[in-house]
Amino acid sequence: MKIAMVGSGYVGLVSGACFADFGHEVVCIDTDQGKIDRLEEGIMPIYEPGLEQLVATNVSAGRLSFSTDLAKGIDGAGAIFIAVGTPSRRGDGHADLSYVHEVARQVGENLSGNAVVVTKSTVPVGTGDAVERILKDSGTEHRVSVVSNPEFLREGAAIGDFKRPDRIVIGVEDDFGRDVMREVYRPLFLNESPILFTSRRTSELIKYAANAFLATKITFINEMADLCEKVGANVQDVARGIGMDNRIGSKFLHAGPGYGGSCFPKDTLALIKTAEDAGSPTRIVEAVVQVNDSRKRAMGRKVIEALGGTEEARGKKAALLGLTFKPNTDDMRDSPSIAIVQALVDAGVEVAAFDPEGMEQAAPLLPHVTMCEDPYAAIKDADVVVIATEWDAFRALDLARVKQLANKPVMVDLRNIYHPDDMRAAGFEYTGVGRS
Ligand code: NAD
Repeated sequence: MKIAMVGSGYVGLVSGACFADFGHEVVCIDTDQGKIDRLEEGIMPIYEPGLEQLVATNVSAGRLSFSTDLAKGIDGAGAIFIAVGTPSRRGDGHADLSYVHEVARQVGENLSGNAVVVTKSTVPVGTGDAVERILKDSGTEHRVSVVSNPEFLREGAAIGDFKRPDRIVIGVEDDFGRDVMREVYRPLFLNESPILFTSRRTSELIKYAANAFLATKITFINEMADLCEKVGANVQDVARGIGMDNRIGSKFLHAGPGYGGSCFPKDTLALIKTAEDAGSPTRIVEAVVQVNDSRKRAMGRKVIEALGGTEEARGKKAALLGLTFKPNTDDMRDSPSIAIVQALVDAGVEVAAFDPEGMEQAAPLLPHVTMCEDPYAAIKDADVVVIATEWDAFRALDLARVKQLANKPVMVDLRNIYHPDDMRAAGFEYTGVGRS
């Protein structure tokens, strides 16, 4: 089947490349001419393990191509995916649906045959209805079915997640949509990946409910970490102790500096707004957003305390290891490191940083930070070393070298990748999260 993927960002590009790898003919479309030009040269716009190879293989097999021409790209496509951004609308936290609506309008005006239009973007309940209206208003005479198919891939593990998903959720309202989606996902059917067919509105809500639940889990363990510090307990053992219970599960129970990234912050806000509008507020999610927001700056204060407090910290130097919101991505969207740096800079602390993939994206967001070529260059003359993202490259630092280069052997490990006893034995003043 020919598939058109409108929007070639994280989700569109990964999904498009994977669909091509399943044997479909895929055109990835984007309005960003520079992005399409680079993709045609084999240059990836994002860092995602395995993506460059996957794209190259499918381009040379003739199954994957790129275009800025939507009319040509969707010509003859049986399924047209919308995978454009749905950022927070400035000012109110609602999802900004202008990109989705614009694509729907263009698709309606350029349809050349019957097709299924699939929202892969994360969109609030009722967006499928709006897309359907826009397509109808465009006056197209072709048969169109609007389907919801939210994406659950994780950045950094996106290809594996797409090809071996825990589940595929498809919200359809008619047999035409259902049949085409079965065809699109047939290779995964054969893999026995579970597929949940449901109504379109339910499918739209599932995505927000999933992200809000995961954000809640992270925030819960972060609050337990704070409590552990006060009462002399160990949050890693608490996480293990509750995570071994199958009803709870061990994932998303790592205490840290708070969640960030391109999804949880905007999606929790958008869910709150949908719920408010529906007269059914989600109080738990509201609390999660508040707790997480204050946590990020609190992590900045934790570093300042390690520097001896507000007075002492002024003029000192912090080495920040890791800037992206998680490892194996270059995505800086809503990364906790942004708030941490802001708190440090406000306190008069000089910040030098290293991130294996994120520095190019980070530089414009963090103009006061000196970007360094490796961890040790950042650590040189630092009064505190801060682990902000758990990249593998930071898990086995040469501690003797760190001690020698740093002004003082002080480490604030916001990801708990080191063991307090080991660090003390190595002569460090060490602070983790939730481990007194
Ligand atoms: P992104 O910003 O990386 O990519 C969006 C792309 O759409 C950009 O390249 C942009 O140029 C393009 N675009 C905008 N308007 C267009 C138009 N009219 N025609 C063609 N292209 C257009 O965004 P993303 O991270 O891929 O997210 C896309 C959607 O998927 C969002 O709704 C997001 O919430 C959701 N999602 C993201 C992730 C993730 O991990 N990033 C995971 C699951 C779901």
